[in-house]
Amino acid sequence: MTAVSLKEILPDALEKGYAIPGFVVLGWEDAISFVEASEELNLPIIIQAGPACRQHTPIPVLGKMFRELADKAKTKIVCHLDHATSEKECETAVNEGFTSVMFDGSALNLNENINQTLSVCNLIKKHDVSVEAELGFVGYNNNSKSSLTNPDEAKIFVEQTKIDALAVSIGNVHLQKSQQNNINLDLLKEIEQKTSCPLVLHGSSGISYDSRRHLALNTSICKFNIGTELRQEFGKNLRLILEKKKNEFDRIKILTELIQPLKEAAKKIILNLQNN
Ligand SMILES: [Zn+2]
Repeated sequence: MTAVSLKEILPDALEKGYAIPGFVVLGWEDAISFVEASEELNLPIIIQAGPACRQHTPIPVLGKMFRELADKAKTKIVCHLDHATSEKECETAVNEGFTSVMFDGSALNLNENINQTLSVCNLIKKHDVSVEAELGFVGYNNNSKSSLTNPDEAKIFVEQTKIDALAVSIGNVHLQKSQQNNINLDLLKEIEQKTSCPLVLHGSSGISYDSRRHLALNTSICKFNIGTELRQEFGKNLRLILEKKKNEFDRIKILTELIQPLKEAAKKIILNLQNN
């Protein structure tokens, strides 16, 4: 199946009351684990490359890698660029095969965020790709503080940009190493009353499985970004493998063993967001 955009999976999730994980990819082993998890469950996923990943590996390499996996998968896979802050980065990613971009204008004021998001939409509209944007600011654990999404601004923002997905700040925080459950359900309800756009929760590693499931089944949140939780799984299993194989030095033999545990972790995350 050819890689798809968010437009092909999020409206169905919104309508039927389930959600899809946006798995943060850092390299080949995690990417293939997530795609195999999707195929084994016959359910769609989003694989996404964030700023840390792009700093480590060039976008053209990531684009080819994502498309190699997505185009050959039996399931719908979105190849998504996460947290791009320039039009140029979005354009390069789309030219290199990404089927979806997130333009992150959360540091800008409302008008500037609208203008720059619109420029990105116009720049890439000839390609069949989707655009996610952020309104309010989702903070980072122990670093920068969040600024919550204003529901009235959300309405204006979606009406003017016609984006495919809106990342909201409703108590979620990036890079959480434990589950906090601090989602502001009243604010979420207010946002849902103002816009019918599929919503995205960044920082979902900090939200419990039960809470994620409740939000997936009962609210407009259709995409849950998960990174830290899977990096912890990677680190934990890597230590176990190195402990078990003290004399092993071949990276392929070491890293291949990570695929199975990562795949199982990904399957658990995907299934938890399904409504059956
Ligand atoms: Zn994020």
